[in-house]
Amino acid sequence: MKKHNFSAGPAILPATVLKEAAKGVLNYQGSGLSLLEMSHRGPEFTAIIEEASALVEELLEIPPNSGYHVLWLTGGASTQFFMVPMNLLDSTQMAAYVDTGTWANKAIKEAKAFGQIEVLASSKEQNYTFIPKGWKVPKNARYLHLTSNNTIFGTQYQRFPKSPVPIVCDMSSDFLSRPIDVSAFGLIYAGAQKNLGPAGVTVVIVREDMLGQVNRHLPTMLDYRTFIKEKSLYNTPPVFPIYVSMLTLRWLKKLGGTKVIHRRNKAKAKLLYDEVDANPLFVGTAAKEDRSLMNACFVMAPGYEALEKEFLKEAEANGIVGLKGHRSVGGFRASMYNALPKSSVQVLVDLMRDFARRKG
Ligand SMILES: *Cc1c(COP(=O)(O)O)cnc(C)c1O
Repeated sequence: MKKHNFSAGPAILPATVLKEAAKGVLNYQGSGLSLLEMSHRGPEFTAIIEEASALVEELLEIPPNSGYHVLWLTGGASTQFFMVPMNLLDSTQMAAYVDTGTWANKAIKEAKAFGQIEVLASSKEQNYTFIPKGWKVPKNARYLHLTSNNTIFGTQYQRFPKSPVPIVCDMSSDFLSRPIDVSAFGLIYAGAQKNLGPAGVTVVIVREDMLGQVNRHLPTMLDYRTFIKEKSLYNTPPVFPIYVSMLTLRWLKKLGGTKVIHRRNKAKAKLLYDEVDANPLFVGTAAKEDRSLMNACFVMAPGYEALEKEFLKEAEANGIVGLKGHRSVGGFRASMYNALPKSSVQVLVDLMRDFARRKG
């Protein structure tokens, strides 16, 4: 039976992408070699990484010669938690962070080793159920760090705040899920495995004037300038994750890009949240105005808590996988990344409705 993959990450990829990727593993474009056994400096992979970077620029409408560079790194988004302050924040400087969840919190913890960190706001006391508002960014901050989508708690910035200083943003779980104005950001990073490709590669988009302003020794492999100068080929990059990411980028372009996928993502999220709000057995955990289009978190309504296991079991029987909520929230989390079809959301919604009819 076909599975409906609501997994939070590594997550669903388009079926056509997986098929093409599988072909490349066996025999890359009739070359008689697997992509996995080819030189990363050969013409095949050079074309792949160049196309991948060009597609990111095209899909995000980054103008040529705007000073932005698309880089392909390893170490996951978690490595960016320290690589960002290491490269951007001098020990005498201050950076501003907003604490909107587990990942933001980890970014703050890592950054503290490199300079002064000011946490402008936090929703930790309310278990990160909302995005704090009304905070002001100090003009002397080197940058403002945000987490655009809080994967675990199901909240997302609907709009990015105006900032007098460059924004650095962790977009791991909503990268390319909607149009953004890249010019508002000094640096964007995203682990691929939520919305772009397989685990093993991290995309970084950095504006070059952000770099070269710290007074510390940067190891070659932890210096963004190495990746700019060597076009992400200073050492062997993760060739396969980059290839699959390129295929996903092609898929997204063919679909119509970020505007089209945003419309689809909104329709999927509306379908599910409408059911969560109408169904007496379920209740959403995130503040409505901050609800994520990517990760919808909900629990059994008061009085029905005992039915949680049963619902998960029925979901599984209906081919729904990855629905169990993160242990810090409990209940359910339906991750609806770009590649998840609306028909999968419909299966979940139908089951919720039917479950309420039988158990309510
Ligand atoms: C998953 C996730 C991370 C961690 O990514 P890794 O690639 O596993 O290091 C960081 N930030 C956000 C928002 C995430 O969703």
